[in-house]
Amino acid sequence: GAVIQCTGLGMTYAEGKMRTPVFDGLDFAVQRGETVAILGASGAGKSTLLHLLGGLDTPTAGEVFVAGQRMSALSDAARGALRNRALGFVYQFHHLLPEFTALENVMMPVLLAGTAVPEASRRAQALLESVGLGHRLAHKPGELSGGERQRAAVARALVNQPACVLGDEPTGNLDEKTAATVFELMLGLNREQGTSLVLVTHDRRLARRLDRVLELHEGRLRQLAQSEV
Ligand code: ADP
Ligand code: ADP
Repeated sequence: GAVIQCTGLGMTYAEGKMRTPVFDGLDFAVQRGETVAILGASGAGKSTLLHLLGGLDTPTAGEVFVAGQRMSALSDAARGALRNRALGFVYQFHHLLPEFTALENVMMPVLLAGTAVPEASRRAQALLESVGLGHRLAHKPGELSGGERQRAAVARALVNQPACVLGDEPTGNLDEKTAATVFELMLGLNREQGTSLVLVTHDRRLARRLDRVLELHEGRLRQLAQSEV
């Protein structure tokens, strides 16, 4: 079944009299275990689309369903809980909380889901070890390298075993080698756990390794043939 589905999805930003239509009438679905790349020029609306799919923003038209639930029908609290349980977010810049350690940052979504501290700590530690940060548990983000911070952010996105990870240029801020490591980590998660991936990227070489490549252009979403990527 679909992990995320959207129907007739549209977004127009309005600020005073200024209206910025970004897209309208997008229909698509991300199946369980599927990996999808989203390409598009700067300003095409990729971040907007990802925010809508993740329920971080409300569309001006259409509907988003996450794990079969209509996002617009949920209270803010229920939407937040669904997001925390079913989705993981990875951004270009890590958004780790600076005053907390790597371990505490990764524990946070588990605690928010209602799990007790010892179990949350155990799971967060195991995951940090699996991304090669077992020796950095007590470090704060400011004490980690860029690649380490991004791996910690990936660990945080994965710790609740979400059905789908949404990545907005998740490797965009990293050097090529570190980017490859982080990308492989996400692909491994897909292979081993069947986690769906929706990744906004400029990197066509990475995009080519995913099941489907969609391009957002002038408000429309088009699936590219392998030869076009
Ligand atoms: P991309 O991620 O592809 O670079 P964005 O989704 O960030 O594109 O932006 C799409 C369009 O929407 C751009 O024209 C951008 O200026 C506009 N936009 C994005 N966020 C906002 C906002 N919060 N308010 C008004 N306009 C916005
Ligand atoms: P930009 O794409 O303009 O650089 P950011 O990547 O900093 O913006 O953030 C993207 C969006 O994600 C912002 O609108 C912000 O409100 C939202 N956001 C940032 N951190 C989190 C988080 N930890 N959980 C959910 N949403 C977040």
